[in-house]
Amino acid sequence: MDLIKPFIEHILYPAMEKKKGNRIRTYLEELKQSQSRSREELMREQEEKLGSLLLFSIHNVEAYKGLSGDGALEELIRRDPRAALLRFPVLPKQVFKADPDRYLADGADRASLIPNTTGGSSGEPTHFYIDRVTVEHFEAARWRGLSWSGITPGSRSVMIWGNPFELSKAEEKSYYRKEKYLKNRIMIPAYGLKPQAMAEYIKTIEDYRPEYFYGYASALAVFARLMLEQGRRLSFTPKAVVSTSESLFPFQRELIGKAFGCAVINEYGARDGGILAYECPCGRLHITCENALVEVVDQKTLEPAPAGQPGLILVTDLNNYSMPRLRYALGDTVTLSDETCPCGMELPVMNSVEGREDDTFVTTEGGFVHGVAFNNIIKRSLGVTKFQIVQFAPDRAELSLVTGEGGEPEGFAGIMEDIRALLPGTEISVKYVEDIPVTASGKYRYAIRKFEL
Ligand SMILES: [Zn+2]
Repeated sequence: MDLIKPFIEHILYPAMEKKKGNRIRTYLEELKQSQSRSREELMREQEEKLGSLLLFSIHNVEAYKGLSGDGALEELIRRDPRAALLRFPVLPKQVFKADPDRYLADGADRASLIPNTTGGSSGEPTHFYIDRVTVEHFEAARWRGLSWSGITPGSRSVMIWGNPFELSKAEEKSYYRKEKYLKNRIMIPAYGLKPQAMAEYIKTIEDYRPEYFYGYASALAVFARLMLEQGRRLSFTPKAVVSTSESLFPFQRELIGKAFGCAVINEYGARDGGILAYECPCGRLHITCENALVEVVDQKTLEPAPAGQPGLILVTDLNNYSMPRLRYALGDTVTLSDETCPCGMELPVMNSVEGREDDTFVTTEGGFVHGVAFNNIIKRSLGVTKFQIVQFAPDRAELSLVTGEGGEPEGFAGIMEDIRALLPGTEISVKYVEDIPVTASGKYRYAIRKFEL
């Protein structure tokens, strides 16, 4: 019997609320109530929050003070916050990174803020501050999304993660103990996993009987592939496998669903953006519009992109008054949808997350090719177990391949022909490697562009 779940839900959480003033459960209740509101009500509430944040920013945040001008902007914010938001510049990561202090609000108490760093999958990491209220809203949004699959904060889980951490033996022990008893979860590292270790891991999972699994898309897919190859199945049906942090490609979803025998749920979030969207049981990604205002703009013009058209995602966190970042460009490409989900919730829907901005390649003629396109071509070859394509300049790219036999896989000439057709005029060199390393944050990336747009 799982005794840790009631301990977390009835003792640990209430104690954290009392001792530290933690409000995750309160915010979770608020989100569970607002999810049944109409789109109109949701948008009205969002607009109110946006108006307050914009007013606060032009008066208290160095980076935005200069915009207040003769008071026209303030008047527009009071009348139409959404229109006013478009007067604020898009904030690319590089601009924020160059001088983060300009975004720190006057009077923000640095000592009470939580320093944070993004994984830096596309280069150097970004350092920023975040406050407790914001973090707790992020957490609440995750639990709200998980609640749609019947999962609660104490639910037992197995995390299938990237590399094991760089911890000393003692630190490791204390870390795993905390994970097990305070979070009710255990971890299984997926990269570098030896096929012969699978039997032991499956036994661990069977003994532990988690309600759900959680992990990077690529790590879950590696584990799922090994399960299928070895004909291993679980004797129980988990509530869901939750994929996070990376684009979840259709072939990975299929693989994971087949191996674990349950729903695969996509969580879309960013360390510097929070939990931005969660997939409901009807398979739609619902945006956390109570916490964040999400815009999608054309990659070149930065003008709003219509529903159905992919563009750069801009995030304005509506709860962050310590370090407001307005229209912050996370670097991901997404598509908004204008459909209403059959699940009945009117939270806005995001069609898909196509991946990181730098996964988009540039042709010698100035066109764009998304990294997913390479994936769709290369996955046709069963001989390729891993690949990575890196574009160094519009006319130069390199394709690294890990193949079963270590040499050229079957049908390779056709594959190269299709890749070259996507990047006419680009010289593509091919090399065969033993493995493709994951990034510092443990993510595996298929397509990397090494130069700025
Ligand atoms: Zn839905």
